[in-house]
Amino acid sequence: MPLVDMRDLLRHAHANRYAVGAFDLVDTRMLEGILVGCERAGAPAILSVAESHFRHFDPGPVLAACVAAARRSPLPLAIHLDHGESLESIERGIALGCNGVMLDASHLPFAENVRRTRAAVELAHACGVPVEGELGYVAGAEGEDAELHPGEIVYTSPDEAEAFVARTQVDFLAVSIGTVHGRLRGTPRLDLERLAAIDRRLGIPLVIHGGTGLAAEQYRALAERGVAKINYFTALADAAARTVHAAAREDPQAGLLRLLRDVREAVAAETERACRMFGAAGRAGEALAACRPWREVEHVVLYRPREGLDGAELAAMVEEGRRQLAKVPGVRRVFHGRKVAGRDDWPLGWVIRFASAAVVEAYRDHPLHLAFADGRFRPNAPERLSLDLEEW
Ligand SMILES: [Zn+2]
Repeated sequence: MPLVDMRDLLRHAHANRYAVGAFDLVDTRMLEGILVGCERAGAPAILSVAESHFRHFDPGPVLAACVAAARRSPLPLAIHLDHGESLESIERGIALGCNGVMLDASHLPFAENVRRTRAAVELAHACGVPVEGELGYVAGAEGEDAELHPGEIVYTSPDEAEAFVARTQVDFLAVSIGTVHGRLRGTPRLDLERLAAIDRRLGIPLVIHGGTGLAAEQYRALAERGVAKINYFTALADAAARTVHAAAREDPQAGLLRLLRDVREAVAAETERACRMFGAAGRAGEALAACRPWREVEHVVLYRPREGLDGAELAAMVEEGRRQLAKVPGVRRVFHGRKVAGRDDWPLGWVIRFASAAVVEAYRDHPLHLAFADGRFRPNAPERLSLDLEEW
């Protein structure tokens, strides 16, 4: 199950001066292409979904596919929420399987960016999930994503970056040093001295947004100066779109499957090329050895209802539990069931999936859990057996 801790993955990349591609995907066809490309390159990778794209697809099933694909892949992989807009989105991303999240408040004044990012860090760290913040502003140029990032570029200041990381405790920092979201015209000028200064001051993995369209030696220069994660979308989307346009030109009556036929291979080829430029090719084995596996926890509570509890009351309690417990941050799934086979000691039970072992404690003390457990559940279930099982 090489779904790995993203902190370990990016620390390995940072220490060894290569960058992991964070490939933004919008459907399972892109997911497959990205995985094929990374396997060909023997590269670790981050499967990334951007909240700004959620008007084009439902993140629930797409993230479920990412989790399933990561678990059966031989590569070390992490799953990331890109450009999270609010605390609610962070919470939802973790519930859907992301084990790394970004809160993007980079368009706001410094103090407000600190305040929002700090709140996201508190929430995500209680779930064991690392956080990427952004300081400075990576504007959009042209391309499908560009209009989502209006305004002018603001370069990241090393002084502010140091204060930002100290106050927010982010694990990774996205910096603005001359790249733009979307397509570039010509080769951009990167402020590599600024990047090196930020790296010396912070010592944490840095992130580049707007990674499309640089020259191979520029990617190398970024990785040598502390960039451990490069977000990559536009080049993949353009490679995919070119195959659709070509198919439509070749046969204007082409059906959907013909139009999409070459998308996966185009995404795979571009992903492989990116992994090689980022210095990540051939690193899968050593990265896997350096990363803790990402383990979910199943919180199991078996119980016997009190004598005299009637069916309607029991059903109402279960319904309330399903609703309330699912709202606790880090809870991925709430299952309630009744025994269909086995011993009679425990006729009913909950199986609640936590994003990681860190959630055990956060869940226990969370007001929503306490309100349900003390107010409703325990009085109706005096006999209980509970345990937390880490995947092993
Ligand atoms: Zn971005």
